[in-house]
Formats: sequence, C-alpha cells, structure tokens
Amino acid sequence: MSTIRLENITRTFAPTKSPLGKSEQAIEDIEITSAPPRTDGLVAALDQVSLTIPDGKTLVILGPSGCGKSTLLRVVCGLESGYSGHVYYDDRCMDDRPPKDRHIGMVFQNYALYPHFEGHGNLSFFFRVRKVADEEAEERIRITSEIMGIGFKQLLARKPGTLSGGQQQRVAIARAIVRNPDLFLFDEPLSNLDAKLRVQTRTEIKRLLRRFGITAIYVTHDQVEAMALGDLVAVMRSGQVEQLGTFQELMTEPANTFVAGFLGTPPMNLFEGASLAGDTVSLGGSSVSLSDERPNQLLSHPHLTIGARPEDAILGDSDSAHLSGLSIGGDVLVIEPDFARQNRLVYLQNGDLNFAAQVPLDIPLNIGNTIEVTFPEESLFYFDGHSGERIC
Ligand code: ADP
Ligand code: MG
Repeated sequence: MSTIRLENITRTFAPTKSPLGKSEQAIEDIEITSAPPRTDGLVAALDQVSLTIPDGKTLVILGPSGCGKSTLLRVVCGLESGYSGHVYYDDRCMDDRPPKDRHIGMVFQNYALYPHFEGHGNLSFFFRVRKVADEEAEERIRITSEIMGIGFKQLLARKPGTLSGGQQQRVAIARAIVRNPDLFLFDEPLSNLDAKLRVQTRTEIKRLLRRFGITAIYVTHDQVEAMALGDLVAVMRSGQVEQLGTFQELMTEPANTFVAGFLGTPPMNLFEGASLAGDTVSLGGSSVSLSDERPNQLLSHPHLTIGARPEDAILGDSDSAHLSGLSIGGDVLVIEPDFARQNRLVYLQNGDLNFAAQVPLDIPLNIGNTIEVTFPEESLFYFDGHSGERIC
C-alpha cells in the first residue's frame, strides 16, 4: 500500500515533425492539446506536474489525446527517464529505481500479452523470472483465477491470438493482480473493446479496485470511465493538470472553460464575447440581470464567457418562462432523442453561436424551427473572457 506523490514532474521531447512536411489542408482550427513548444524549442509532454494519490484511492487522469497521460504513467512506473522532478511512493524516492523493483501491476490498451505463452504462461512468467517456487506460483494463480470469476480458468489454456479482445484484457488484468502489486496502473484499458465489453470490463475493474483497495492510477480520455472509477479525477491538458477533484466537483465547480467544455454529455455551452456593464451582462442582443454578489465578483472582468448547461435550458423566453436568465433564440439544426432520459437534445444556431438545449420529448419540434430557450441566472457560470478562469 502506498501513497504516490509526484513533485514538479517535467518531461520534454524534441518536437516531432511529419517526414512529409505540413499538409496543404492542415487543419488549423482543432484545439491543439499536445504541449506547445517552449522557449528552448522542446515540447513539454509534462510541465511541472504535482499530484498526490492517497493510499488505496483511484486517481483517474482524464484528458484528450496527446495531453501527456501516458508519459505521466511511464514516469510513475519508471519506464521514462530524463524527466525532472521526483516520484515518491510513501516517503521512498523512486527516481532511480527500475520498474521491476516497484511492485506495479500495469494494464495497457493493447493488452501487451506475451503472444507465444498461453494465459497461464502469461501469469506465471513473473514468478519464473523471480525464481519463485512452482507451488507458490500455482497457488497465486489459483487464487487470482478465483478472484477473476466465472469463465476465467478456461482462458489460462489458450494463447492470446485465440482470445477475443475482452478475454485478452481479462488475462492482462489477472497478470497485474497475480503479482500482488502495491500500485495498479491502467493506460486506457478499455479503448479497444466494443461498447458492451467496455461496460463489463469497467465493472470488473471497479470490483477489483474496491476489493483490493490498492492505490491506482487510471488513464482515460473517456469521462464515463472517470466518473465510474475515479475517487479523484485530474483533468489534464497540454502537459498540465487543469483541475483535481471528485467528478462531482469538476462538474459543479469547473475551474476554467477547458474543464467546463470537456465534461458533461454534451458539455456546457460556452458563450464567448459577453460584456459587463453595471449589474447587467450582455451577449449579442441578449442580456442577463445579475443576482446576489455576482456584480461585485465580476467587477474587474469586463470581458466574459458565459457557461450554461444544456440540461438547465427552459423552453420559452424569460417572460413566458417567468424567470430571469439568459434567453437566447436559435434555429434547430439537429434533434437527438434520449428515450432513457425522456427528453431530447436540440442543437441550435444563432449567427455565430452554436449551442445545445435539452427539451421535453413531447414538445413538437422540427429541424429548421426557430425556438427560444432560457438558462436561469442562478444556473449560469461566468468565466474571464481572456484567461478562461472561472469567476463565479
Ligand atoms: P497521451 O497519452 O495523453 O495521448 P502522451 O503522453 O503519449 O499523450 O504524449 C504527450 C506528448 O508528448 C505528445 O505531444 C507526444 O507527441 C509527445 N511525446 C510522447 N512521447 C514522445 C517521444 N518518445 N518522443 C517525442 N515526443 C513524444
Ligand atoms: Mg496515451
């Protein structure tokens, strides 16, 4: 059992260029999530990352592709040298300790099983390398099979090539467990599985994490996994941790527009280009009268981005909805029914503004209709228009 502490971890690489040069149709508008070059011309895959994972807890690292998640795991397990900063397990500094001496169980996206061994050989390899007596190894494998549950034993006699993705990942998880690790590391373990298996395997991982209470770091780009598995979630972007908290905290108190725009299905609407005058915020032709302390809190932020969750939308303008808030009209572009939640998600466009609103299933609505929705004032989030930091 260990508390894991990362102190100011920075890892840089030379920027990688496509050998073919820049494509003529290079896409400029997609948000670049990998690290921007620094003054020294290097790219920081990790930039001064400090994190503590409490003993027995699962920390999920959540972020888009290229933000540094795998590099972080590689630093934690000792596969990455050439970083600055320090890694501690409890109070033991691990910087010079090779991976094999760190008591880690790792599970990867691509399973990384030894293809020429059967399941059993994949589990026992660790013991053979360490010259553990056969009896003890067999006993550990037997206990692990029991823990893995129904149908697992049959997998031990088969080579990875004859197993489905889900079965291979079960063997890989068992291989991590059989070592009796102090620390579990998962790098997008569900990414190659289809939707149903993803749910099954996720539930299995959750059961195992609860059962063992082992400190774990779980890397994913999928917020559903973060919500299901993380005691704590760290949202990463461009080599930095943007926010650390419970999933609930990240949803209710996002620290900035990046976190707000990354979480939620669909994520929060972010209306840029709002401005403050007195106790009124204006956005295009709409305006919001601020309540409570907000005029004071916003005083030194003349340029604002307003955040509004689709699920807080109420059909109608503020007069007809009998509430104050941000009323905004738009043309219906796309309608997605959500039968499980008895509503549908409507994507709207108003000039340059695109936004989403949740509306009841039973209201007649067609593509091309123009509707007006109101986001109640107390449900709105305000961010600084330049830095993106949350104000209130
Ligand atoms: P993630 O796992 O979040 O997708 P990675 O940790 O794999 O991200 O990579 C983070 C950044 O570091 C990316 O910009 C990637 O191109 C860069 N990077 C990672 N490993 C190397 C390497 N060995 N050489 C050069 N650049 C690398
Ligand atoms: Mg990765």
